[in-house]
Amino acid sequence: MSQPLIITIDGPAGAGKSTLGELLARRLGYLYFDTGVMYRALAWAALQQALDLDDALALENLARWIRIEVVPPTLEDGRQYTVLADGEDVTWAIRTNEVDRTVSRVARYSAVRAEMIRQQREIGRRGRVVMVGRDIGSIVMPDAPLKIYLDASIDARAQRRSEELRSRGQPYSLERVRDDLARRDELDRHVMLPADDALILLSDNISPDEEVDWILERIRELQNVGSDAT
Ligand code: C5P
Repeated sequence: MSQPLIITIDGPAGAGKSTLGELLARRLGYLYFDTGVMYRALAWAALQQALDLDDALALENLARWIRIEVVPPTLEDGRQYTVLADGEDVTWAIRTNEVDRTVSRVARYSAVRAEMIRQQREIGRRGRVVMVGRDIGSIVMPDAPLKIYLDASIDARAQRRSEELRSRGQPYSLERVRDDLARRDELDRHVMLPADDALILLSDNISPDEEVDWILERIRELQNVGSDAT
């Protein structure tokens, strides 16, 4: 088998998917695509427009008409990429605790998900991409040749997320971050399914570099199996 052209990384919030995804993509020379930003941009826009989060039709319309773009970083301020919502730079605006608390409510509607998935598949099908999310291996790109499910204990995830928020000037107590994560896990449960053929990786006690090495080793194994079979 040649190098897998689509690698999916799914798992709960705070497991370290984006750090891993970016590192892995850089090592492989692939595009890094964090699908969570699409749901976050929607949640941000819904908050801006003061939409009723129980109004499925309004959210579906928003999902259909908003133009979400993810482009290479336009500023050097620690961002991994720039996110534009109808042309407006929302890269940091979608990372607030308010969006964290809203996003799963927006993402629960099947019509909203259908629209996001359609757009995600368009990008995924171009190949040479590391796609990060919740349902990428199971629903969005079920034929991807390498699927990772990155998990970690709630304590490790809360610690990571609270450090992230603190570094952005949002110092919330560890308890509050932990409670928010637990609530989001509950809301995301229906979409957070490891694909049957996903490799499970626990990030509690290993560094992102070690995770990348582990995955590159799995890629070599896949390539060897492929070349033995031919
Ligand atoms: O990964 P991140 O925490 O940025 O994702 C934000 C939210 O977007 C998740 O909590 C989930 O509700 C939603 N999401 C999703 N499917 C994805 C990616 C994210 O439902 N593929």
